[in-house]
Amino acid sequence: MDLNKEKLAMIKKYGHCDRLPQGRVPGEYSVICQKCGKKIKSDSDLSDIGFSVTKRQTAYFWHGKCKGSPWDNKIQWEAEK
Ligand SMILES: [Zn+2]
Repeated sequence: MDLNKEKLAMIKKYGHCDRLPQGRVPGEYSVICQKCGKKIKSDSDLSDIGFSVTKRQTAYFWHGKCKGSPWDNKIQWEAEK
């Protein structure tokens, strides 16, 4: 399976639905980068996005550029205000 398609499927499964699909128009989904707290949208470039599924069947996501930031242990699910 194409890795970007897999990421998109994960965002759909675990993320927040920003807009429901309508007819041929795909829905928009988003997750929160666990490092910088910004949204990762399903229609953005996912090639640099990392994700991990936990044993509790939740998943978290991060930007490749944010990996290794000091927020490593902070899990958050809402976008920064
Ligand atoms: Zn980030």
